[in-house]
Amino acid sequence: AKSTGHNMYFVYENRMADNINAHLTLGGGLRKAIEEEQFVLHYQPKIRLPDEAVVGAEALIRWVHPELGMISPDQFIPLAEESGLILPLGEWVIRRACRQLQEWREAGVPPIKLSVNLSSRQFMQADLVDMVRRALEETGVDPKNFELELTESMLMNDAQQSIEKLHSFRKLGLTLSIDDFGTGYSSLAYLKKFPIQTLKIDRSFIHDLGLDCDNDAIVKATIAMANSLNLKVIAEGVESRSQVDVLNGYECQEVQGYLFSKPLCSADFLTYMQNSYDT
Ligand code: C2E
Ligand code: CA
Ligand code: CA
Ligand code: CA
Repeated sequence: AKSTGHNMYFVYENRMADNINAHLTLGGGLRKAIEEEQFVLHYQPKIRLPDEAVVGAEALIRWVHPELGMISPDQFIPLAEESGLILPLGEWVIRRACRQLQEWREAGVPPIKLSVNLSSRQFMQADLVDMVRRALEETGVDPKNFELELTESMLMNDAQQSIEKLHSFRKLGLTLSIDDFGTGYSSLAYLKKFPIQTLKIDRSFIHDLGLDCDNDAIVKATIAMANSLNLKVIAEGVESRSQVDVLNGYECQEVQGYLFSKPLCSADFLTYMQNSYDT
């Protein structure tokens, strides 16, 4: 085992060194990056079925690193969580998203709903609701057009406190969505207690649509359940026409994924929107 393990060991060690280097480089740069606002939001359209109108978008952060170029959130959100920098970064995201809604309105884009992702540490932040309220007020954004995406595990941390926080958000007039639905330890009982409006079916389920009967049954039942609970249901990671056909058959209300568009920078999203209603 030792001789065969030898090469493995080097591969492992190198990979570990790479990770540690990336960790230090990125982690050290994060504070400065926040000060210098080296971030952008990209926007991925949300498409209503069956008419395929663009009715919303999800804001997704990218770090435009001066040397390394565009860095994906999976590579720095965990670092920001560990260091606590997610709090100023998360506030930047919310304010940027609000300003973007304002800019779209000024550009004459028909009103769409923009959603923003929250991280767990951010969700636990005591003055989060106040911060969101101020951002909405200061930008004059209609809270109806603003949505927060949360994950099941975030809510289950302290369910009772989560419920109260969600109610405070609801009082602001915005909507709440459960992201990656089906991947956490989702308790159906809690679905009834949490004041949420949208279920977002995780893309792992959408990936297997039409390939696996059990998977299809889960998706179909989830959509039926959401519909009968009067929750909006959206499928993420839609990459093919055949997936859209299946989802249409199940009466899924919205879809999001590469089939329609990758997340777009602000300028490209505006063009996408203009094309969607000019034609
Ligand atoms: P998420 O919230 O589940 O976002 C969906 C991810 O799937 C995005 O990756 C998106 O680009 C990608 N995606 C969209 N359509 C497709 C598709 O058809 N196929 C496939 N394979 N992927 C698709 P992205 O932008 O790299 O974001 C990754 C994760 O980073 C997000 O997952 C979210 O958890 C986190 N994240 C992104 N922006 C923020 C943010 O502003 N704040 C926080 N706290 N987390 C964020
Ligand atoms: Ca999301
Ligand atoms: Ca998701
Ligand atoms: Ca995710």
